[in-house]
Amino acid sequence: MKLLTQEDAEFFVKCGAREFHYNSDSDLAAAARDTLTKAGIRLVPGPGATPLPSLSTADRLDLFYSSEAQQIKEEICDIGRRMWERNYTDANGGNISCRIGADEFICTPTLVSKGFMDPEMMCLVDSKGTQIAGSLRRSSEITTHMAVYAGAPQAKAVVHGHPIFATAFAMSGFQPPQCLIPELEVFVGQVPLAPYRTPGSPAMAEVIQPLAAKNQSIMMVNHGLICWGTGVEDAYFKMEITDAYCHTIVAASQIPSQRTTISGEEVKKLLNMKSSLGLPDPRMDQTPAQLAEVDPWTVLDGCSCSSVSSQLKTALQKLTQPELEALVKKIVSGLAQA
Ligand SMILES: [Zn+2]
Repeated sequence: MKLLTQEDAEFFVKCGAREFHYNSDSDLAAAARDTLTKAGIRLVPGPGATPLPSLSTADRLDLFYSSEAQQIKEEICDIGRRMWERNYTDANGGNISCRIGADEFICTPTLVSKGFMDPEMMCLVDSKGTQIAGSLRRSSEITTHMAVYAGAPQAKAVVHGHPIFATAFAMSGFQPPQCLIPELEVFVGQVPLAPYRTPGSPAMAEVIQPLAAKNQSIMMVNHGLICWGTGVEDAYFKMEITDAYCHTIVAASQIPSQRTTISGEEVKKLLNMKSSLGLPDPRMDQTPAQLAEVDPWTVLDGCSCSSVSSQLKTALQKLTQPELEALVKKIVSGLAQA
């Protein structure tokens, strides 16, 4: 049996490992396990391996009050303030979590404005959402975060909020179309819609988990946006990029001009760039033609203010010539009387 020492563990951390797979032929020294869990590296049992026993409550508390965890708590408060300042959270809305161990997560408390938190307010929970430490009650939506971690084992942090423009898209039931702005293509990818379920319910977790496996930013219909990343700020960036994208589309829809898109060939180049950055995207195998198959502006016409004019156009096209003439007469006489 090979015993992994603390030195080996430090090497793994330096290499930027996110997971450590062990099997029946390898074992972890206690100090090595400590080093890996403090660095947020997931310990994954391979075939035939006995899962490592959970940390004792005392070890979990040590982890929660460690200097590494303190830094994460401070970063969560900082991101909470940035979310509040950008209108991504209203009142006590929104929540943030970060993995600090194989089965240990720091998360924000419920009923607190995310713009005015301090590190002492943070909670410690396990992957079932059970609270282990913290004087305030953990977020009621933590089970949705856990569905993200279960669907995307590489996720280190999750951020949820109600940014206005992304939420407006989520309410309209339209997935933001692609081929418009490189930032979203490279750093976020497609943003799918998760059907509405009661916030924080097991049903919500059920619809989020499969979507999180392939997408880092997910719109929750009639609710908000949930994003995951390799750290708290990275998860927050996905939210910022998604909301800015939706905001820009809304602004562009109101400017009467020629509407342009990024060609399929150019989107393919962006995806290649994304691949060289080590960022996954389920569209990697698509051809340029497939990537540009749907014209984003046609999709948007179906959901924006211009849908009224296109509906009107369709209705007018259905009228016969005499019906059309009668309608014109009616409008003209109406105008004359006005
Ligand atoms: Zn919410």
